Amino acid sequence: MEINNISWDQTVDFLVVGTGAGAMTAGIVAHDLGAKVLLIEKSPQYGGSSAMSGGGLWVPNNHLMERNGFKDSIEQALTYLKNCVGDVIPEIRLTTYLQNAPKALQYLHERTRLKLHIVPDYSDYYQDLPGALEGGRCLEAMPFDSSQLDEEEFLKMRESPPQELIMGRVSMTIAEAQAMMTHSPGWVSLFMKRIIEYACDLPWRFKSKRDRRSSFGNALIAPLRLSLIDRNIPLWLNTAAKHLIVEDGRVVGVEVEKEGRPFRIQAEKGVLLAAGGFDNNAAMRKKYLPGPTDTQWSCGNPYSTGDTVTMGQEIGAGLELMDEAWWGETVVVPGEERARMMVIEKSLPGGVMVNKLGQRFVKETSAYDDVVKAMYGKNTAEAPCIPAYLIFDAQFRKNYPVGPLLPGAQQPDWAVPSEIKKLFIKKADTLDELAAKLGIEAGGLKDTVKKMNE
Ligand SMILES: Cc1cc2nc3c(=O)[nH]c(=O)nc-3n(C[C@H](O)[C@H](O)[C@H](O)COP(=O)(O)OP(=O)(O)OC[C@H]3O[C@@H](n4cnc5c(N)ncnc54)[C@H](O)[C@@H]3O)c2cc1C
Repeated sequence: MEINNISWDQTVDFLVVGTGAGAMTAGIVAHDLGAKVLLIEKSPQYGGSSAMSGGGLWVPNNHLMERNGFKDSIEQALTYLKNCVGDVIPEIRLTTYLQNAPKALQYLHERTRLKLHIVPDYSDYYQDLPGALEGGRCLEAMPFDSSQLDEEEFLKMRESPPQELIMGRVSMTIAEAQAMMTHSPGWVSLFMKRIIEYACDLPWRFKSKRDRRSSFGNALIAPLRLSLIDRNIPLWLNTAAKHLIVEDGRVVGVEVEKEGRPFRIQAEKGVLLAAGGFDNNAAMRKKYLPGPTDTQWSCGNPYSTGDTVTMGQEIGAGLELMDEAWWGETVVVPGEERARMMVIEKSLPGGVMVNKLGQRFVKETSAYDDVVKAMYGKNTAEAPCIPAYLIFDAQFRKNYPVGPLLPGAQQPDWAVPSEIKKLFIKKADTLDELAAKLGIEAGGLKDTVKKMNE
């Protein structure tokens, strides 16, 4: 809104709207450059989807690659990126990213509490594209002892979702998850070690069920939060940005709702909008994303309601790429608040993903983004692909986790809660019987399984 002679409740140099990893990093850097910074967060918890995420960062040509035996260059990464995204994104943005991401990583390492390492064996998703590497570009935060935050501050960090925790409780890194799910040598002792460490952390167990050894997105957010605290940078929870305030054609501040009251914050040098996406805004999903769509299918932060998109539009900003998303196949598990992402299961040997006709419609080992694009792209009235079904046999069930289920070897069927059996997983002795239980076409399913077995 355009306003003259406004009265301000607070003045800073740089106002950051949101508290995800990007927002926190921007706040830290602005402070280090001499600005008076404030971060605001709509919800009672900081961290957003960043805290709930896998926490994997894609940084080609990063400074850790060479010492880990990887070779890369900006040119090679640009070739790869251009092949991935085509000409949708101007090349200048791609090169800006490639030139600056390694510098950002180095800055974080040198100036903040966040330390990352390369995830071994995490390849670029499109191995057949020129410029792809088999590893080295994907990094994750090192496990972080979040008791370095005080207890109250730790509990204000948005929790990791259950799929990122062993038995919904115990933390693991991406590399550890990879080893356990694919049964790499030593996975059993790794599994036991993590459980025992968690159980024996008695002083912390009296404080919280949450593992203080943070991993995945929590391991990104906790050290960044501590780095904000180190610098005395304020972060206000329960403070929602509502409108951008414009004076003479320039954004000069933000009208917010702070603990239920209107409040005006002046930002003398700038405002950064880093308040996430719109995965939990039903109307925006319906308007911009392909259908069918449902907020229940989002596994992201429930407060991602596209507020800053609307705020930008209010002052005349243009929008682009609104039909794009960071897609991933999810499952809605009875009794759980958020959908779960199910990234790895679909790619394990012995499983097959089918539509209502019992037919495959995608290569199961494709990147999760492409799996959902195929669900939408191939979805027709005759061959519905939403929802899709993961079909597997007893061997698969015994060896691998599936959504909320641990491998059958650790959680036999009798130990599976009845709600889950009723609403999430169906079991049958024959494919005909299974197809009937799932309401999919038996002939198609039998053909598919026969081909898969061959
Ligand atoms: C399960 C899962 C796994 C993922 N794994 C990865 C991965 O490994 N690698 C990867 O690159 N990406 C991953 N992603 C995607 C990634 O997490 C998001 O793209 C990224 O975190 C978005 O960051 P952000 O800062 O834009 O938003 P967020 O991290 O969501 O932060 C935005 C914050 O702004 C707050 N907010 C919203 N509206 C307002 C308002 N009006 N005023 C003030 N505050 C507001 C929100 O509450 C939130 O805390 C994953 C996502 C999920 C859900």
